[in-house]
Amino acid sequence: MFPKPQDKHRESWGFSISTTLAALQAFSDNNAIATWRSFSIRRQSGDVMRLILLGPPGSGKGTQAKLLCQRLGLCHFSTGDILREAVRNGTSAGCKAQTIMAAGQLVPDDIVNEIVAGRFRNHDRPERFVMDGYPRTLAQALAFDDVLKSQSLDLTAVVSLVLDDAEVVRRLGGRWSCPKPTCMATYHMVTKPPKKPGICDECQTPLVQREDDREETIRNRLAVFHGQNDGLANHYRGQGLLREIAGHGDIEDVYAKIIEVIASKRGQDL
Ligand SMILES: [Zn+2]
Repeated sequence: MFPKPQDKHRESWGFSISTTLAALQAFSDNNAIATWRSFSIRRQSGDVMRLILLGPPGSGKGTQAKLLCQRLGLCHFSTGDILREAVRNGTSAGCKAQTIMAAGQLVPDDIVNEIVAGRFRNHDRPERFVMDGYPRTLAQALAFDDVLKSQSLDLTAVVSLVLDDAEVVRRLGGRWSCPKPTCMATYHMVTKPPKKPGICDECQTPLVQREDDREETIRNRLAVFHGQNDGLANHYRGQGLLREIAGHGDIEDVYAKIIEVIASKRGQDL
């Protein structure tokens, strides 16, 4: 909904009064001016925040990316979202990706790279963002470096959430689901167990473990992750961008650690 003209007027008055007050206060003594300046430098630096999040499945990478977007106003880019948008917009790379995805196959690096590059070359390219799931391979990282360079965009940091394999298996392997189509309730043997072992609380149906949540599947996904991630991490370590933090603990603890490493990284830049 558009604001009514009188609302707009009021807004502009509110802005100019608060700006005048802030300016008067700032000029009242030199310390305040210095504080104000460092505040605006920090703000400027904050305004260009560009992050890549790395981490194994189950590390909470997607959750942290969403929090960073909600709280810092960054654009959230997950590979899935980028692909879906390209398919929706009917770009040539998007059409190729759609055919491959419809056949249940993984979209190859060059097509994903083309789609991401197209998104960043758009007139409404993102200035402040967090990448979640891209780049996933070294080849993607090299292509993304070229895109950023051609757009004169610098990364602020690459944050890697570190979680050992046993913890990933514990987190993901503990998931059990109700197979009844009208229920589909989910449980976790450690964090959210059903009242009766192996039985759905809602509809009393015996619980099952989905293929994705089986230990063997998780270990296979982890093997693929390590094969790709080590090269990625080394690449960004070489650029002085990598910041590794422990992915253990609750969501807010991990978020606080991410903010801390970004703040210290920014401190080095200033
Ligand atoms: Zn159920």
